[in-house]
Amino acid sequence: MTPYVLVVEDEDALGALLQYNLDKEGYRVAVATDGEEALVLIDEALPDLIVLDWMLPKVSGVEICRRLRARPETRNLPIIMLTARGEESDRIRGLDTGADDYVVKPFSMSELAARIRAVLRRIRPGLADDRLHHGDIVVDRVAHRVRRADKEIHLGPTEFRLLDYLMQHPGRVFSREQLLNAVWGSDVYVEARTVDVHIGRLRKALNQSEDDDPIRTVRSAGYSLDATG
Ligand code: CA
Repeated sequence: MTPYVLVVEDEDALGALLQYNLDKEGYRVAVATDGEEALVLIDEALPDLIVLDWMLPKVSGVEICRRLRARPETRNLPIIMLTARGEESDRIRGLDTGADDYVVKPFSMSELAARIRAVLRRIRPGLADDRLHHGDIVVDRVAHRVRRADKEIHLGPTEFRLLDYLMQHPGRVFSREQLLNAVWGSDVYVEARTVDVHIGRLRKALNQSEDDDPIRTVRSAGYSLDATG
């Protein structure tokens, strides 16, 4: 699955440059030019990583960071902050903004790309692998096979994509709408209730001979794969 990077940058030229270069690096990229637009895009589809400018019109980068960290579904969303040289970079060091990393402007694209790869590797080690591991569950993404405690698990295509997606983001809570966008696609009309049905099937298949259910239902928020694995 192609990692989705949201760039939040109000300077059009820099936003376009970032979009062009990150696209070349193999990411799916969207650009928001202010904080409000960023929050709307994040609600529509949860990015795998955000490149967030510190100084933004309407809602500042720090405020966006704070809001994302306060919500269960975005608490662990990787954020790389872009700051201007000078007092901002000094302040960002001293402040607990909740960003995972930061890059000081002006920066080279190769530097930013390296930071993105490092953050994604740290937070989502399974992203580039053919096999995802979580506790006793192994998903072979090439052969499209799933095993739990060395027993073959048979899943339908939707349940497979759901499990694959959840295993890429252990511990992160997804709303039904976010799962619909990620697994079914945002251009397909499916009722949110459908997610519950497929989660139910996935649970049944996974938990045949094991009693510990790896999928957590988070009341009024959605679903998550247990972070402990
Ligand atoms: Ca700016």
